Amino acid sequence: MRAEALIDLSAIKFNVQHLKKTSGTKLLAVVKADAYGHGLIPVAQAALAAGADYLGVALLEEAITLREAGIDAPILAWLVQPGSDFARAIDLDIEIAAASLKALQEISDASTSKKARVHLEIDTGMSHGGFLSEWDQLTAAHCAAVDIIGVYSHFARADEPEERQNQDQLERFKAMVAKIESFGFKNVIRHLSNSAATLKNHSAAFDMVRTGIAMYGLSPDVTTLGSSTSLGLRPAMQLRAALYLVKDVPAGTPVGYGATESTSADTRLGVVAMGYADGIPRIAHASGVWIAGKRAPIVGRVSMDQFVVDLGAASTVQSGDWVTVFGNGSHGEYTADDWGAASQSINYEIVTRIGPRVPRIYAPHVY
Ligand SMILES: *Cc1c(COP(=O)(O)O)cnc(C)c1O
Repeated sequence: MRAEALIDLSAIKFNVQHLKKTSGTKLLAVVKADAYGHGLIPVAQAALAAGADYLGVALLEEAITLREAGIDAPILAWLVQPGSDFARAIDLDIEIAAASLKALQEISDASTSKKARVHLEIDTGMSHGGFLSEWDQLTAAHCAAVDIIGVYSHFARADEPEERQNQDQLERFKAMVAKIESFGFKNVIRHLSNSAATLKNHSAAFDMVRTGIAMYGLSPDVTTLGSSTSLGLRPAMQLRAALYLVKDVPAGTPVGYGATESTSADTRLGVVAMGYADGIPRIAHASGVWIAGKRAPIVGRVSMDQFVVDLGAASTVQSGDWVTVFGNGSHGEYTADDWGAASQSINYEIVTRIGPRVPRIYAPHVY
C-alpha cells in the first residue's frame, strides 16, 4: 500500500460522548464533505452509536447517500438549492433547511403527499445563508404546508469567545426565534452552536448543538481555544505513507521542481509517494513527516504525486518503511494543526482535502 488515512472510530465515539456531556443537550453530528474527509458512512454510524441524535450535511446528495446506506436517524441537509428534488427529500424523511421565502414556497409546493420537515435558517450576523430582511415578512401562513421542526443560525466568530459579535448574534437569535414561538408551533428545535460554541459558550446550547471539527478530535482554533488535548478531544485521523524510495545524496543536491532547495550536507532523502493530488498542500513547505522517532522536514517543492523529506545522514530508514504525515501528536509527530499552520490554513482544510486516492482504513493508529 502506498498511503492510507487511518480513522479511529473509537476516537470519534469518545468525542461525541464528550461533546454531548459538555453541551447537556441534543447533538447533531456534522458529517458533510465526506465527514470532513473521514468517510461519510462509517463516521455517521459511529456517531449515532455513540449517542448522536441527528446527522447534518450540507448537500441533499449527502443526505440521500446516508439514507441509501440504511441510516434512519434524523438527517438535516442545509444547503439545498432552489430547484432541487424536494419531493425526493420529503419522501426519504430528510429534513431540509429553508433560508428564504422562495425556498419555503418551493418546499411547500413539493409537500403534496407528505409534509416536508423544515428547519428555518436565520442570519444573525454571518451573512451566509438564512433569512434576514425577509424574516419580517414571514407569517405562520407561509409555514402552513410544512412542519417546522427547527430554527437555527450559525456563529461567525465562536472560536474567539471574547468577541462582541458572539453576544450580538446570540441576542439576535433569541429575538428572531421569538417570532416562531409566537406562531405557536410546538417542540421547535433551536440550534446555534458549532464546535467552538459547544466547547466555550454554554449559554448558546439551546436544544441542540451541531458539532463538526471537535467530533473529529480537532480544535476549532488552536491559537484561541488551545489544542485537542487541552480540550479533552482525541484526533481521529492519522495519515501515513510508505516511503517509495530512499537515497543517499551529497551536499548541494537540488531537490524538486524549480530546484528551489538543495541539500546543505551529505544526507539521506526519502521520497513520499503523496502530493497535492492527495491533499498535501503545495505551500506546506515548513512541515514534514515523522519516522523512526523523529521529524524529517520537507525538502524542495511538493509535487502532484510526491514530495521529498530529509531523513538525515545517520538515518537507517529503508524504502518501504512507513512515515506518519500527521497524527495526534502524542509521539512528537506533526499534527493536522501543524500542517494547517504550515499552509496558512486550518486543520479543517487539511483533513477535508485528503484526496479520494487515499483509502480510509478504519483501525487504530499505528506508530
Ligand atoms: C460545518 C457546519 C457546522 C460545524 O462546524 P464546526 O466548526 O466544524 O463544528 C455547524 N453548522 C453548520 C451550519 C455548518 O455548516
